Amino acid sequence: MSVKTKILVVDDETSLRVIVSKILGKDGYEVDMADCGEVALELCSQTSYDIVLSDIRMKELDGISLLKEIKKISKNTQVILMTSHASLDTVIEAMRAGAYDYLTKPFDNFELLAVTRRAAEKLELIRENKNLIRQLTENNQKLEDVNEKLNKLATLDGLTNLFNRRFIITALKNEISRSQRHNYQFSILFFDVDNFKQYNDTFGHLSGDNLLCTLGAILKDRLRDSDIIARYGGEEFLVLLSETDLEASITVAEDIRKLIATTNFVDENNEPTTQVTVSIGIATFPSNGINAESLIKCADVYLYEAKNNGRNRVHYCRG
Ligand code: GH3
Ligand code: MG
Ligand code: MG
Repeated sequence: MSVKTKILVVDDETSLRVIVSKILGKDGYEVDMADCGEVALELCSQTSYDIVLSDIRMKELDGISLLKEIKKISKNTQVILMTSHASLDTVIEAMRAGAYDYLTKPFDNFELLAVTRRAAEKLELIRENKNLIRQLTENNQKLEDVNEKLNKLATLDGLTNLFNRRFIITALKNEISRSQRHNYQFSILFFDVDNFKQYNDTFGHLSGDNLLCTLGAILKDRLRDSDIIARYGGEEFLVLLSETDLEASITVAEDIRKLIATTNFVDENNEPTTQVTVSIGIATFPSNGINAESLIKCADVYLYEAKNNGRNRVHYCRG
């Protein structure tokens, strides 16, 4: 539904005020009248007019002062000034103060309607522009949200909300470049849950999923924000400890191993299950490997050494 354009006609000369209002009213505008600048200003503070047609020369508050006050209230209101002595100076002052246009008295109906219609069209364009900007902002926000979701899907593991394998391999490559540049050491911990198949068989797959999530939470809680924790595969986790040498990473790994071994795990119904342990293999850059593949391979070898030596232990090589 289109809303009628609201116009205020201001003139201390009654006949002109009434005639102008009638002509505009007949053309479909909603018109109010004011017989002086003060009344006009009062009306403008109550109602939002699209267009104000005002005489320039009025007793107390003249047309140009009224125009300036109106622009303070609503900068989009289009003000058309009517003058019987279109001196160049007054016109320039009016336009500088933000008048849309001016009419020189006497003017005919056609001039009046033409300038009013142009002002109304300008307002329509301003409105359309605002709508377009709003839509554009909304669409941009939607696009950002979708991008963020896509990004998460591409980098996170759906079950544990930890990073996924693809992400940690990229992070590992970055860490290698950074550590090479600054001559730092860093370590990776490769975890595998002990006898997880049996846990699943005893307590069910959902309880198994529950265990993986709890393990993820334990790792997040214990490690630093700068460390990267990923679910590498089914019940395997890979952790990247930046700027951490072998000795420090052994301490971290032992801490986590003990923490897990003493945690009371629960099944999907929150009922206690059984003791859970993990085996961990450590590899340190650059002594155990100088690229992502060789580092992971090395940590994997130590992880399986830990398994073969009875599980629930941390393996690495100091030599
Ligand atoms: P080991 O101590 O030698 O590691 O023995 P394991 O039983 O943990 O290892 P195995 O490789 O024999 O079994 C791994 C099990 O992990 C089998 C598989 O069904 C389970 N598993 C892998 N991914 C998921 C998962 O997302 N959820 C659940 N619940 N189980 C999983
Ligand atoms: Mg396992
Ligand atoms: Mg495994």
